[in-house]
Amino acid sequence: MNYKGGCLCGALRYQAERVPVTTGYCHCSLCRRSTGAPVVAFASFPIDGFTYTRGTPSIYRSSPTGRREFCNQCGTQIAYRDLDDPETVDVNSGTLDNIEHVEPTHHIFTADGVRWLNLGDHLPRYPQGEPGKD
Ligand SMILES: [Zn+2]
Ligand SMILES: [Zn+2]
Repeated sequence: MNYKGGCLCGALRYQAERVPVTTGYCHCSLCRRSTGAPVVAFASFPIDGFTYTRGTPSIYRSSPTGRREFCNQCGTQIAYRDLDDPETVDVNSGTLDNIEHVEPTHHIFTADGVRWLNLGDHLPRYPQGEPGKD
């Protein structure tokens, strides 16, 4: 199955040819600030098979090892890459054409989460990153 998506204005389009390694919600303050949303759903795809099929993203270095890829025309943040985890790219699920295919399985960085946000699921919640991952 091919996963396809893009930014709000359409200048950036991408596809991922392999199934996500993991999917989740990230409650960290950097994801919150960079997207303007109280929590971000993401799908972590293998970089093997992930390509931009239209346009080239701009890159913002949000931390010493973090790189956020976004559209320089409409501002949509497409993806996050961590130099410590170079085998995957974390795509913001809201940019997918069909977000239904990447249902989150857990929450990370809940220690940084917004207290008034109450998601009524029973998925595992990790105060920091996913155990076993950076
Ligand atoms: Zn755009
Ligand atoms: Zn985050």
